[in-house]
Amino acid sequence: MSLLKTHVAKAEKVASNVIYLQIARPEGFSWRTGEFAMLGLKVGEEQVMRCYSIASVGNSETVDFFIANVKGGQLSPKMNALKDGDEVYLDSEVGGMLLADRLEQGGKDLWLFGSGTGVAPFMAVTSDSAIMDRYENVILVHGVRTWDETGYVARMIRRSPKLQVICAVTREPNAMITKRIPDALADGSLQSLAGIQIEKDHSRAMLCGNPGMVKGVRDYLKSLGMVSPRGGNPGQVLVENFWI
Ligand SMILES: Cc1cc2nc3c(=O)[nH]c(=O)nc-3n(C[C@H](O)[C@H](O)[C@H](O)COP(=O)(O)OP(=O)(O)OC[C@H]3O[C@@H](n4cnc5c(N)ncnc54)[C@H](O)[C@@H]3O)c2cc1C
Repeated sequence: MSLLKTHVAKAEKVASNVIYLQIARPEGFSWRTGEFAMLGLKVGEEQVMRCYSIASVGNSETVDFFIANVKGGQLSPKMNALKDGDEVYLDSEVGGMLLADRLEQGGKDLWLFGSGTGVAPFMAVTSDSAIMDRYENVILVHGVRTWDETGYVARMIRRSPKLQVICAVTREPNAMITKRIPDALADGSLQSLAGIQIEKDHSRAMLCGNPGMVKGVRDYLKSLGMVSPRGGNPGQVLVENFWI
């Protein structure tokens, strides 16, 4: 672990409980689209670091993040109070499961399932033309509780004719989907809305965010024969949990 000192190039509150941070990329820091980094602050004598998915394309000028303010959390409320120019630290080592190259070759539809700030790595994936060029259709499904938590995606995502964004909003009316994502998959309403069916041969999927959503979607995909790559065997599903 090697900590790199850098600063906030831009901080923007994008929802009542989410901050968007553009961090100046320190020398010696590199990543691939879809990876997460350890980002944090010096709090008194203590260095407090947490994992955050990088929302910008690999090796961009800034290292971007969407960070939810977790009530009572040790670090995230402090991250949500950051201003332009504030000092932050990045660990030089990055990692993660959501690397497009890990998906089985082929497939024409890429499904991206993110809950809350679990949408962050998909902001990078959908901005990366090397990944987008591999698929005919990319369907981003964003699960949130309130509308306030999803507006920034529509505003900030890089638009593409092959990309559709579907919001599943569970605690407010008038959403395209008002039930939990796994339930909307199980009854087929999500696929109908997208106008695309999910099937092992032509679908690939990435899942990121809260473990409940991830498990529910993963179980559904497993019922279709879609699994994660393992021990050299190809897989169609990549998974990142924000906590266990
Ligand atoms: C690989 C990975 C990538 C991550 N990427 C992101 C990201 O891009 N954006 C982001 O906001 N968070 C992300 N997280 C979560 C992040 O690492 C922290 O757990 C979160 O910021 C809370 O830290 P804290 O110090 O405030 O809370 P702590 O005092 O450490 O408490 C942690 C607890 O907070 C809860 N928690 C964590 N994240 C959330 C959340 N988003 N919503 C509700 N409850 C939560 C869990 O119960 C967890 O056990 C990621 C986690 C992992 C493992």
